[in-house]
Amino acid sequence: MKLIIHGGFFSESRTNHEVKKAKQEALNEIVEQGYKHLAAHTALETVVYVVRLLEDCDLFNAGTGSQIQSDGKIRMSASLMDGKSLGFSGVINIEDVKNPICIARKLMDQEDKVLSGRGAQNYARENGFKYYNPEIPQRRWEYEKKLSDSIRLGTVGCVALDMNGDLAAATSTGGKGFEIPGRVSDSATAAGNYCNKFAGISCTGVGEDIVSGAVATKIVTRVTDGMLLSPATEKTLNELKPFDGFAGVIGISANGDIYHADTHPYMVWASRDENQIEVFA
Ligand code: ASP
Repeated sequence: MKLIIHGGFFSESRTNHEVKKAKQEALNEIVEQGYKHLAAHTALETVVYVVRLLEDCDLFNAGTGSQIQSDGKIRMSASLMDGKSLGFSGVINIEDVKNPICIARKLMDQEDKVLSGRGAQNYARENGFKYYNPEIPQRRWEYEKKLSDSIRLGTVGCVALDMNGDLAAATSTGGKGFEIPGRVSDSATAAGNYCNKFAGISCTGVGEDIVSGAVATKIVTRVTDGMLLSPATEKTLNELKPFDGFAGVIGISANGDIYHADTHPYMVWASRDENQIEVFA
């Protein structure tokens, strides 16, 4: 069993030691809880469970604590991919719900698997997901101060390999912050979150760059065609260099390799397997 999670990029973590420590502790606790869950659940159930915990932690830009868009509203995106069935489900730009990943999970069992905007919200309400305002005062303060100049990305993601050897990946985001309403994040696309029976990948970074590089899909395809996870990831991230693409990646392959990499410092992450727990330093 293997588990890796990320909490996106957070430039402030480098200089603000309190924030860094809080994120290290949160990721440490969540990866541990997730690993316990994985002992009794499938990879698919576990990535949903873990991403829900990350969405509920307001240190990260997903669910509660999501960033605010240019018109003052929060719109969130999340997706889920099951490596076994190849089902991909997600919500794009959903408002006023607590856990976008849980709605993505519900959609996995539907024929229509990715819903956006009002349609996603109506579906959520019809399926018992209550009104919830994910805004926290810190994000409103940042919005009002227009701190859009510094990169403040804190998307979350999880990849799990369960004891049956099945893989799943999930990713959830509040977006880039200050974006034009209607902008579509990579997090609920196959570029930002992809998984098959060979490998699972969750990305963070600038969504436009991740889509241009088809990052998650490319890495998984390379592993499927025989490359190991780490060179497959490095090759794909190298291909972002000509346009200075900004991306971070976590992944697990079916042979048990766990890998994480980023094009710019630095992504916050944690991993857990039978031997050890590792947290970004
Ligand atoms: N990838 C996300 C987006 O562009 C942002 C992030 O990873 O923090 O919407």
